[in-house]
Amino acid sequence: MAARKRVAVVGVGTMGSQAAWRLAARGAEVVGFDRFAPGHDRGAAGGETRIFRSAHFEDSRYVPLLRHADGLWRRLQEETGRELRRLTGCLLMGPTEHHQMATVLQSIAEHDLDHEVIDAEALAKRFPQYRIEDGDAAVLDRHAGFLRPELTVLSAARRAEELGAKIHRYTPVREIAPSGDGVVISTDAGSERFDAAVVTVGPWVNDLLPDLPWEVDVRRVVSAWFVPVGDTWAGEERPAFIRTAPVHCYGLPSPDGVTVKMGLSRQLHRPVADPNSLDRTVQPEELDVFTELLRRHLPGLLPDPVRLSVFMEGYTESSRPLVGPLPGAENAILLAGFSGHGFKLSPAMGDIAADLALDGHTDQPIEFMTTLGRTAA
Ligand SMILES: Cc1cc2nc3c(=O)[nH]c(=O)nc-3n(C[C@H](O)[C@H](O)[C@H](O)COP(=O)(O)OP(=O)(O)OC[C@H]3O[C@@H](n4cnc5c(N)ncnc54)[C@H](O)[C@@H]3O)c2cc1C
Repeated sequence: MAARKRVAVVGVGTMGSQAAWRLAARGAEVVGFDRFAPGHDRGAAGGETRIFRSAHFEDSRYVPLLRHADGLWRRLQEETGRELRRLTGCLLMGPTEHHQMATVLQSIAEHDLDHEVIDAEALAKRFPQYRIEDGDAAVLDRHAGFLRPELTVLSAARRAEELGAKIHRYTPVREIAPSGDGVVISTDAGSERFDAAVVTVGPWVNDLLPDLPWEVDVRRVVSAWFVPVGDTWAGEERPAFIRTAPVHCYGLPSPDGVTVKMGLSRQLHRPVADPNSLDRTVQPEELDVFTELLRRHLPGLLPDPVRLSVFMEGYTESSRPLVGPLPGAENAILLAGFSGHGFKLSPAMGDIAADLALDGHTDQPIEFMTTLGRTAA
């Protein structure tokens, strides 16, 4: 029988908590390290909700991975007894000719996804909370909805612990170094050797790995919560939504039904020079873009936000993540740069991290991502 592999998980956030769960489920001896504690809101996860969708407007090649993630979302819910995901649908709206509308329809056609195409007139009747413009159309992705980020990270980490993982909280990793056919992880408490490591430090990737040959642009991401006027958002259908143009934005009705959370696309986020001193105060002028979006597209929301939060995310130029071994350290598997759309994929990415750390390759179709080193069989 092969010896049980010892695997470190560096960063037990979105991807790391799922990797820890998948590794522990597959019998590895898992030791996790996080600079805070799983479920915290100082990185890329937090703010109550994340969109889950099956149809992908960025690239239809994500769809098989989303299917894999879908099964694992169900399994994690069953194993933890928590409602991590609620399927409410997701409405992608925007000008008919916008390229993201074409990609979403392509991913639906290629993978036979459950959906509805809704024209402007029907959209205005069925979803009066949105102001529809001439030439707009919408695609309702039915196998879509929201995920709960804090609860998910916490639940996946705790499930990993139930399966035998050990997680060191408030323990930043200072260095990852190759050592023979393994990896040495150093913290302020000392160094420890592992057979392999999964490195999932999210927006801290440049902080821990300053010599990485791939660029990850870390941005400060603002979320804002607004209260509906009257009962405009009280209808039976409460899908998440994404507007493609002229300003790319998205929103989610809060699980408690009281507010609607809004977010913006990458270009509108300020760069983060140092993830350890993130400015978490939102200045009034940062709200202008939200005010304008509400005026133009969402007249049923009161313009003064009742809650503001600041997160961080790492973006790659192609928006595709970096996945695979670190240069010079075959057994340290990096997953980074999820570019604003990684949460929904996270159980699948955790499983892929487990494949790479335990077997050195994965059968999952990740070739279109920025795969580092050897990842296929
Ligand atoms: C506001 C916002 C909205 C988003 N909306 C969506 C959405 O609707 N749908 C979707 O699919 N995706 C969405 N995303 C993207 C998604 O949330 C991210 O892609 C995903 O959370 C990235 O996960 P991560 O594991 O890379 O980073 P994180 O979740 O931040 O995890 C990194 C972890 O590493 C730890 N760490 C850092 N440095 C060290 C160290 N040296 N030692 C030990 N631990 C360390 C941190 O404490 C943290 O726990 C959104 C992102 C943001 C910011």
